[in-house]
Amino acid sequence: MKKIITMILAAIMVVACMAFASCTGSSTQEKVLNVYTNAGFAPYEYLDSNGKVVGVDIDVVNYIGEKLGYKVVINDIEFNAILNEVSKDKYAVGAAGMSKKAERDEEALASNVYATSVQYIIAPKGTFEGEKVTLADAVAYVAAANIKSIGVQKGTTGADLVAEGIDGTDAKAIEYSNAIIASNDIGTTVSAVVIDKMPAEAICKNKDTLQCWSLDAEMESYVMYFNKDNAELVAEVNKILDQMIKDGIIDQYTVKHSS
Ligand code: GLN
Repeated sequence: MKKIITMILAAIMVVACMAFASCTGSSTQEKVLNVYTNAGFAPYEYLDSNGKVVGVDIDVVNYIGEKLGYKVVINDIEFNAILNEVSKDKYAVGAAGMSKKAERDEEALASNVYATSVQYIIAPKGTFEGEKVTLADAVAYVAAANIKSIGVQKGTTGADLVAEGIDGTDAKAIEYSNAIIASNDIGTTVSAVVIDKMPAEAICKNKDTLQCWSLDAEMESYVMYFNKDNAELVAEVNKILDQMIKDGIIDQYTVKHSS
């Protein structure tokens, strides 16, 4: 009898301990910041030789996470799915070289601007003269080429610009998951690719058959997009971002990931 009572008491103690552990576990649970990005956009986000997502944006969110006590979880998804994910989770952020845009501001809360960019066109070496090309000239070249298509990344400002430019011409746009895949198709499926300056330069640096030209487009401002219900987090992040810019930390990360 004594043995049975001892066993029952022991069992009760085990259950009680487990319950206690799970309670204390949840009370000390880490705060998680879910970062959504698209790792085909060097130097801002790309895969290193081990297949790990790295880049300027990743360094920036890790820095912010450390300052504010968040565990940072990186999710590599399609660029055009980022804002939808952000809208579903209060502690989510899109960090993907995202240009500030009125339509996006309706879906999510923009941080302060942390970088600027302009659209570039990638084409076979020597396609255009000079360093700059007008959108009209770029479209005219594609419309007259054998392959009358321009590659763009789905859901980007570059895709918007090309859509406007080709309207009423013989040129067509082909949408890709990212500009790296698109540029691999130059000469077979597309004649050129339009993407932001630094990712374009990274692609041209890796392929000596290709060259990059600046388009005569408007300057774009990169922001991080947060969930609409988390203005407090955006305010905290903005302070850190501003300080990082002042201290040259973002510039350091950009140099580090561009070399
Ligand atoms: N800056 C562009 C945009 O916001 C492209 C971003 C990207 O491809 N990661 O649409």
